[in-house]
Amino acid sequence: MRLILLGPPGAGKGTQAKVLIERLGIPQLSTGDILRSAIAARTPMGLAAKEIMDRGDLVSDEIVNGIVAERIDQADCRNGFILAGFPRTVPQADALGAMLIQKGLKLDAVIEITADPDTLVARVAKRAAETGAAVRADDNAEVARKRLDVYRELTEPLVTYYRGKGLLR
Ligand code: AMP
Repeated sequence: MRLILLGPPGAGKGTQAKVLIERLGIPQLSTGDILRSAIAARTPMGLAAKEIMDRGDLVSDEIVNGIVAERIDQADCRNGFILAGFPRTVPQADALGAMLIQKGLKLDAVIEITADPDTLVARVAKRAAETGAAVRADDNAEVARKRLDVYRELTEPLVTYYRGKGLLR
């Protein structure tokens, strides 16, 4: 089973992915988690991504497409995977489509998860405070709002994109 969890930051993609991992026995592939590991390990990719992530912008399609291309080739993905936080732009979705065609694989479904905007901002700001991603409460709320704006502008078009392919649930 190959699934995408699509939804704004704070909607609960990570939480739902945990349930699905257990139920389906396939791994979660989160570009955000992989980028955070790269930051923790101070790799060149992590160092390049940190500033962009801290201000709530998206890292380049090139970087995340590369991460995913490498990850889905690993042995634990052979029975499927759950993508969370990728794709986040139409070019990323196109790149994923091309990767899957090249490997002879198909997506089973794109599951949209959402929550009301105030809840999303509160959850993301709280998480940023807990992980020390921002110094002031103002910064937390500001970055949370920025991330939602980025979602609406660049990622939400994927709802229509995947609905058009008959994959949206
Ligand atoms: P997440 O954990 O999915 O909320 O991602 C945290 C941050 O990592 C995002 O705000 C982006 O800066 C970056 N990121 C994660 N996934 C992607 C992606 N597919 N495309 C671009 N940036 C991403």
